[in-house]
Amino acid sequence: TTRQLVMSEKLAAIGEITAGVAHEINNPIAVMQGNLEIIRDLMGPAAEEARTEFRLIDQQMHRITEIVTKLLQFAKPQEYARLAEEYDPAGVIADTLPLVQHLLRKTMIAVEREDRATRFVQMNRTELQQVLVNLVVNAIHAMPEGGRLGLRTFDSGSGVAIEVSDTGEGMTAEVAARIFDPFFTTKAREGTGLGLSISRMLMAQHGGSIAVRSQRGEGTTFTLWLPASDDAF
Ligand code: ADP
Repeated sequence: TTRQLVMSEKLAAIGEITAGVAHEINNPIAVMQGNLEIIRDLMGPAAEEARTEFRLIDQQMHRITEIVTKLLQFAKPQEYARLAEEYDPAGVIADTLPLVQHLLRKTMIAVEREDRATRFVQMNRTELQQVLVNLVVNAIHAMPEGGRLGLRTFDSGSGVAIEVSDTGEGMTAEVAARIFDPFFTTKAREGTGLGLSISRMLMAQHGGSIAVRSQRGEGTTFTLWLPASDDAF
């Protein structure tokens, strides 16, 4: 469709621009970070008085680095190693949970798992994990008062589906229609708006897909789908 065409042109443009400038941004930031450290040392005990300001600068530089890193994934996705491994997606979910454990601990979130998929998938493992982390972190953000995080795998058509569901705030149809757009975010300070657009790109690169169902006030379910490799286990 025209909309998809516009989107892929947008992504390609972002990729090109990023490839050119990402390194140019990272280098000066590294220099600034190094010199900030030196200044702090030179100030000695007086640095304590500017503690808040130092922390603020640190945080903001960290944020720039994070955004540049995410942008680089647009620019050079083909540089990611394509490992020809086949695996049970439930294993990746198991590996993903420890990465978000610190966030889960902060709120009353119960994790519900169901592993019913009987087929292997072939998507690069690191990339599938990256998509899962994006979805799980979003789900946790959507449940500040706690709730249930569901992680399910099951066979679906000729492939495997992985569901990430939450009982959080949900979203309006207007928001849901835009969440895969690069830079679309409703998180004023924290968001980059890149998580879901990158996730969709990664799924597409492996012949898979990502879809969302959401109800305001009820919760949200993201469904990943990947073609199964030939072997079953
Ligand atoms: P970011 O998290 O940085 O905003 P994303 O691309 O990951 O970027 O998400 C885009 C937007 O989609 C979020 O700002 C939020 O509005 C919405 N969203 C994503 N996941 C959920 C969810 N589980 N529940 C409610 N809203 C969500």
